[in-house]
Amino acid sequence: MPALKAPAKILVTGVTGYIAAHVAEQLLQLGFSVRGSVRDLAKAEYLKKRWAQHGDKIEFVVISDLVKKEGFDEAVKGVDGIAHVASPFHFNVRDAYADLINPAVKGTTSVLESALSQGNHQIKRIVVTSSFAALAHPAEPGYKFTEADWNDWAIKEVNEKGATNVDAGVAYRASKSEAEKAAWNFIKEKQPKFDVATINPVFVFGPAIHNIPNADSIPTSLQLFYRNIASDPQWKNTQVAPSNSAQAFIDVRDVAKAHVEALIRPEAGGQRFLVSAGNFSWQEAANVLRELYPERNVVVGEPEKIRTGEESIVYGEKASRELDISYRPFKEVARDSAEYLIELEKSWRA
Ligand code: NDP
Repeated sequence: MPALKAPAKILVTGVTGYIAAHVAEQLLQLGFSVRGSVRDLAKAEYLKKRWAQHGDKIEFVVISDLVKKEGFDEAVKGVDGIAHVASPFHFNVRDAYADLINPAVKGTTSVLESALSQGNHQIKRIVVTSSFAALAHPAEPGYKFTEADWNDWAIKEVNEKGATNVDAGVAYRASKSEAEKAAWNFIKEKQPKFDVATINPVFVFGPAIHNIPNADSIPTSLQLFYRNIASDPQWKNTQVAPSNSAQAFIDVRDVAKAHVEALIRPEAGGQRFLVSAGNFSWQEAANVLRELYPERNVVVGEPEKIRTGEESIVYGEKASRELDISYRPFKEVARDSAEYLIELEKSWRA
């Protein structure tokens, strides 16, 4: 028996976000009903139109802040499962706790507490969007990251350097590790009837389906990609010399599929899934984009040096096997991202 089966109703938090919109759309396409939480109903208008053919299978609920006291009590009523995707992902950090760690951790515990108090008998599975950041740690070249790894260092660094002094990237990593730890601790302590699975993505690229009215609103990960291909000089080539150090990537459509499969498959309960299609470098991205779009004057860098030769292995083998994901390869992800971003730029001028 599947953990959840259409037409079950799934709450997708932060549905106006990059990953969550794809999760909701894939669920709707499979016949699930979706309740999407949004900070601002006006922001949902675009998706309402996009999903009009799904009629009353899509509804929206306002959660104006992840840390608000009432939590998700109303939002979880009547749902069978939850994809908790909402969490701040940006690097405009003045205070690591106020801007990132508190909303990430309290948002997660708030969803779980509301599920326990309002839906413990009906809710079967909660899939939490964690991150590779929650398991990544300094490692020797050749080290193979798996779901057994944990990031314990970022929160220590936040506390040592201070919430207003620590690097924003470290603060974000801490927000993800602490939010995921909070989810697993909650399950251990409260022993609810529902179970939890986490999806731990690396850098997410690929076409967005939610409304992006200007370059500032491009999701954080895709914005890094946009810098290579933008026509606006303010954005163009902000990565002046593309790095050849390894990063890992995954397409947003594959991340969404992982969430959906983790909601459906009974054996996914209680598990973490690192989702990654493998490594790339920004030099590699520049090379691919220069070849595809010679007219865009993509930065040249050092085209022969695409890797340093010293990298860890970040590949989501378990998720590929157990959640049936055939990861899109880098060239396809890069091409689809660039095509999408070029059309997006045109839409701003129209
Ligand atoms: P987005 O910024 O597009 O989505 C974040 C979502 O969270 C948005 O819907 C946003 O609402 C909502 N949100 C943020 N802060 C708050 C808050 N304080 N109160 C209420 N809602 C809030 O980013 P992504 O889709 O990329 O990220 C989604 C999740 O995936 C996050 O948990 C992120 O950590 C994780 N992730 C992302 C990766 C990536 O490369 N993109 C990689 C690994 C993990 P609004 O739409 O109103 O802004």
